[in-house]
Amino acid sequence: MPIVQKIKKKYAKRFRKPIEVFLFHAVTEEYDEKQNMLIDWSQTEDFKKHIHVLKRRYTFVSLEEVYRKLNSRIPRWRRYAALTCDDGFSSVLDVLPFLAKEGIPVTLFINPKYLDGVSHREGYAENQQYITHDQLWALTSPLVTVGMHGYEHDDSTKKTAEEFNWSVEKCKELLQSHPRFVPYYAYTGGRHSDLTQQILHQKRIIPLMVRGKSNTKYYGAIERRPIDSYYWEKTLKNIGMSDS
Ligand SMILES: [Zn+2]
Repeated sequence: MPIVQKIKKKYAKRFRKPIEVFLFHAVTEEYDEKQNMLIDWSQTEDFKKHIHVLKRRYTFVSLEEVYRKLNSRIPRWRRYAALTCDDGFSSVLDVLPFLAKEGIPVTLFINPKYLDGVSHREGYAENQQYITHDQLWALTSPLVTVGMHGYEHDDSTKKTAEEFNWSVEKCKELLQSHPRFVPYYAYTGGRHSDLTQQILHQKRIIPLMVRGKSNTKYYGAIERRPIDSYYWEKTLKNIGMSDS
């Protein structure tokens, strides 16, 4: 490797610390096989413990702040992280006071079709309980922002350009009057294509992936790592941390 590149790499490692964006879904006291899916669930006390572990290393900032930092050339000495929550399960409302007490901002990625509260989603044995329109609009804390997760929870890569465009526009139309709305779009299951990326880019919407990577700069999407109970150990290992 040429010397200039070597120095650049060394500089980046020391002064531009990677930023982590973490992702969680439902959080309940007990696992209910009718209401939960193992890969989308955290036990309440475990979730709190996990947040405390991450706080030992990371300074939590909002997702918008992460985006600013990734686009900035200002050196980063500290390790920053942001927290995101997909799907808008109503159980998440119970952990918002805990996150507020910890001073941790969170972005909720919502499927507005389910804002009636009980819509059924594939993969679950029973109707899932979702955050309702009134509950979502009651969230006005500066620590909470609301982003898009598609009109409904389906695979964006199976849609035509017109269908994906419609889903994004519908999602935006139904969510953008929320006082804490942000133009960020978390792909359901992280599934995306060049076409979906192109459409979001044209609309100046910032996409979020789930490829289990760190972020060093903004290259057209923000990467995330899941911290649901099922993924916790693996994610912890991947970021080089331990529980104890
Ligand atoms: Zn989802």
